[in-house]
Amino acid sequence: MVEWIVPLTDGVVALLLMVIGGNLGSFLNVVAHRLPLGLSVVHGGSRCPDCGAAIRWHDNVPVLGWLLLGGRCRDCHGPIAPRYPMVEATAAVVIGGVAACELLSGGGTVPYGGLGPGRAGADNLLLRPDWRLVAYAAFHAWVLVDLLLAALVEADGRVVPRRWTTVTLVATLAAVALCDWLLPVGVWPGVFGGPAPAAPGWGPRGLVVGMVGWVVGLAAGAMVSPALRDGLGLVGAALGWQAALGVLLLVPVCRGIRRRCGALLAPADEPAVDTHPLDALPPDAPVLDAHGAPPSPSPHEAVAAGPSVGRRLRSAAAAGLGSEAGLGGDLFLATAIHLVAWRWWTGLWG
Ligand SMILES: [Zn+2]
Repeated sequence: MVEWIVPLTDGVVALLLMVIGGNLGSFLNVVAHRLPLGLSVVHGGSRCPDCGAAIRWHDNVPVLGWLLLGGRCRDCHGPIAPRYPMVEATAAVVIGGVAACELLSGGGTVPYGGLGPGRAGADNLLLRPDWRLVAYAAFHAWVLVDLLLAALVEADGRVVPRRWTTVTLVATLAAVALCDWLLPVGVWPGVFGGPAPAAPGWGPRGLVVGMVGWVVGLAAGAMVSPALRDGLGLVGAALGWQAALGVLLLVPVCRGIRRRCGALLAPADEPAVDTHPLDALPPDAPVLDAHGAPPSPSPHEAVAAGPSVGRRLRSAAAAGLGSEAGLGGDLFLATAIHLVAWRWWTGLWG
């Protein structure tokens, strides 16, 4: 028997999920920019904000596209904000990572084993897929995508349109009403409580648990900060009131860790030797050109004119992580941690 093939397949599936997460992050960069402005999020490709040139598909590959171009536009060599690859990397690791934990554990993170006996591993996932498990992971990815989107809009100093918040909430409540098993916690033991029925079904139980979770999340979030209200309401609607309170307790922990990391990354006064691993691009990284035009100045020449790619990434990361605001990002991370651990976390609440 080839025992190594199972962990290898698990790794490949996890990598694939992270690639999907990175592409979601790339899409969210665009949506976060266009949604508050009332622009279409599906029509019109990405364009350079400086020269208006269309971004080629191969330059739009999450994280790698930015790194290979040295963080500059291929046409006008204007700088492209390091925020783009950082959001893509965050979405890849967090959203892809949570999906990988849920899918590869065969639903092992579900409270009460709500989806029945878990069948772990990529072999089960690929050969005998449980579609409820896939829907369950996709539902949680939807919640994380919404929270990351709200965090990005908040970081821009804008407001998520009220209509979008409402549509998101209604869609989430409809999902838990129509697919009862998506929300396998109760209001209280004995009150719409206990594990969800193992058989797929719809019913008032999911809707009641979702509504109670929404109200508790909304109220608890509003008491702490208006920036948390809608996000925590969504968490409650999708995962139950226990999750809303659990995530609320995790937010300050995430916030503390985030700001500590920001302080560690902040450039020191002395000119530190920049040993950022992302600086270690090969000196002749391939520069593709779809039109076969004469090679434009290599990213490395372009970068020579400004701070290095690593330095730009580092200072942008330090500014983002150390920011006083950013509660939306903390909520996103806290929810992701909760999703991976919620089987145990929810058990504490009965
Ligand atoms: Zn440009």
